[in-house]
Amino acid sequence: MLHPEIEKRKTFAIISHPDAGKTTLTEKFLLFGGAINTAGAVKRNKANQSNTSDFMEIERQRGISVATSVMGFEYNGKRINILDTPGHKDFAEDTYRTLSAVDSVVLVVDCVKGVEEQTEKLMSVCRMRNTPVIIFINKMDREGKEPFDLLDEIEQKLNISLCPQSWPIGQGHTFKGVYSIYHNQLNLFHSDKTKVTDSVVKVNDLNDDALLDYLQEKEVGTLKDETELVNGVYGDLDISMYKEGLLAPVFFGSAINNFGIKELLDTFIEIAPSPRHREAEERDVMVDDKNFSGFVFKIHANLDPKHRDRIAFLRICSGKFERNKFYYHTRQDKKMKFANPMDFMANEKSLVEEAWPGDVVGLYDSGNFKIGDTLTEGEKLHFKGIPSFSPAIFKEVENMDPMRTKQLEKGIEQLTDEGVAQLFVMQPGNRKVVGAVGELQFEVINFRLEHEYGAKCRFRTLTYSRSRWVTSDDKKKLEEFVKRKQQHIGTDKEGNPVYLSDNDFMIEMTKRDYPDIEFHTTSEFK
Ligand code: GDP
Repeated sequence: MLHPEIEKRKTFAIISHPDAGKTTLTEKFLLFGGAINTAGAVKRNKANQSNTSDFMEIERQRGISVATSVMGFEYNGKRINILDTPGHKDFAEDTYRTLSAVDSVVLVVDCVKGVEEQTEKLMSVCRMRNTPVIIFINKMDREGKEPFDLLDEIEQKLNISLCPQSWPIGQGHTFKGVYSIYHNQLNLFHSDKTKVTDSVVKVNDLNDDALLDYLQEKEVGTLKDETELVNGVYGDLDISMYKEGLLAPVFFGSAINNFGIKELLDTFIEIAPSPRHREAEERDVMVDDKNFSGFVFKIHANLDPKHRDRIAFLRICSGKFERNKFYYHTRQDKKMKFANPMDFMANEKSLVEEAWPGDVVGLYDSGNFKIGDTLTEGEKLHFKGIPSFSPAIFKEVENMDPMRTKQLEKGIEQLTDEGVAQLFVMQPGNRKVVGAVGELQFEVINFRLEHEYGAKCRFRTLTYSRSRWVTSDDKKKLEEFVKRKQQHIGTDKEGNPVYLSDNDFMIEMTKRDYPDIEFHTTSEFK
């Protein structure tokens, strides 16, 4: 039996290809949780943030969410922590890292567009960690793809078994509501964008005459046929398979119209996993371990331009975190305590006295933390599952203001510690190469270097488009490889050699030429 405080926690992320409805769904969850009172609050909040800092101005101008934040609320006796992820694809790595800090995800799919590029990428990251996934098929008020076709497409493209838990009655202009297979309820569609409304009709089963008060006979007939087919094809929900990440329950609805959300949320809190044990390099860390442990998965800079402090987001993995208690910073081998740790309940930050596994606390940081850092009560632990991924764009840093060389170096060092992009050092000449997923990150770096560090640089684009971390059981062979390929080798922040390449073909050729070398697509290869 887990401690009730751990048991009641559900920490997850809502993820989607941009525009599928992630922000809208997040907002509706907060609305049901009473964390906000009116729809629009999440977006309004975003706008406020952008007024308070120059950095956020970029976000406002481009209408994207650069930051990842945390929103906690209580719902039906559970403590829900939603970790928000940036929608823009250039910030995908930020999203991947946030996924290391959640216990499950809700994946939003647009019923008109079906599975999109980011949907597939996000799913593959979930699969790396066997993260349990619930799928929400959104925008059923639009004329989209047929539900059965959508399910086939999702199963094929995302390579996961599905089990529908609700079924739509009509679609687009004929959309009447959803039937909750999980709870045997009929939910009728009232388009209501701002309030939580109850429009649930309880029925015993689909033969219940009460249905005819709300639906036409033909609609009831179609619903019966289709749910029978669903039962036959997909069967009952196997919760243990869901928890292993092998099977995804599916819900239909319309986030903007507040429809199908409650069914999703109610089932979510019933079946979504509470915090679980985590793998560290040294051992498995049990969630009910007496001793506290946690890791940093996100560093947020300059929330308030008047203070240069950063905020490190710490996911608690075991034990209990307490304010003003000394904890051990594993990488820096030193003790630290936190006088003002923050909690993010009800979409506002406030001082937190104690926090439990599954919770995320914000720690003011003046430069002590790096992504992946671990805090414990004295044990040396390194949590797994927070790797760097191969960037897609590589650019060499050219200093544009020799009088500010120190500031530039510090800026590049700190921004890459924050995980904005990755830094590789190349020889000869200790050249600094920044690798990122998209162009936008270089713009952000340039902007921040200028505004926060007073440094100026130019980025010279290199031909590389992939990186592979290289290892070998034979140390000599690795040394030889690194020497031979020196012009394409960068060293990452941990001092690991990384082979940079223009394309997959070149990687394959090199693999063939050097059979004793192993090539890894992420920095986690131990
Ligand atoms: P995100 O980029 O995934 O966060 O997507 P948003 O939540 O910002 O939504 C993208 C657009 O889709 C916005 O214009 C929303 O108003 C719209 N949208 C969200 N949910 C629905 C829905 O259920 N039906 C329709 N028709 N539009 C929706």
